Amino acid sequence: MRAVLLGPPGAGKGTQAALIQERVRVPHISTGDLLRRAVAEKSALGTQAQEFMDRGELVPDRLVVGLIEERLTKDRDAGFLLDGFPRNVAQARTLQELLDGQGLQLERVISISVPRDELVKRLLGRGRTDDNETTIRSRLMVYEEETAPLCAFYRERSVLREVNGMGSREKILEDILESLR
Ligand code: AMP
Repeated sequence: MRAVLLGPPGAGKGTQAALIQERVRVPHISTGDLLRRAVAEKSALGTQAQEFMDRGELVPDRLVVGLIEERLTKDRDAGFLLDGFPRNVAQARTLQELLDGQGLQLERVISISVPRDELVKRLLGRGRTDDNETTIRSRLMVYEEETAPLCAFYRERSVLREVNGMGSREKILEDILESLR
């Protein structure tokens, strides 16, 4: 499987990625998790990334792309389930070039949609350090401006499937698995 989970913060990408992994053997690659680890380890990358994450802004592409490149070239036959990457059109083009270079194709992009009010409610209830009201507002805005255009990008390439992110975790999982087939 070579797929991307797309959706606003709070849509349930991480939760669903974990559930998918119980059913399909595929490496789950979350740039948010990789960045949070780099911050916790106080690496040079983490130190640079932290200020952007704290503000709810995107970490500059040059920092994120290095992380993803390393993971995608390590075990190319294993496939991947990306969560939180790509986040803008430039990252999507980088991903495409990376896969083209390996003679591989992205098979599916699953867009999970959830109404804005529900996203805010979920994020406020989650309590991560970047889940405070100001940061949430900026992350949702960044999503609308930079990430949402990826739906059109992938629709044009005929790999996009849309899934309703409201309802039980199990129902959403079944919808996603169906869309991945
Ligand atoms: P997430 O866990 O996916 O919500 O990501 C948390 C934060 O990490 C985001 O608000 C961004 O600051 C940063 N981040 C994660 N993935 C990316 C990415 N692909 N590009 C830029 N910044 C990212």
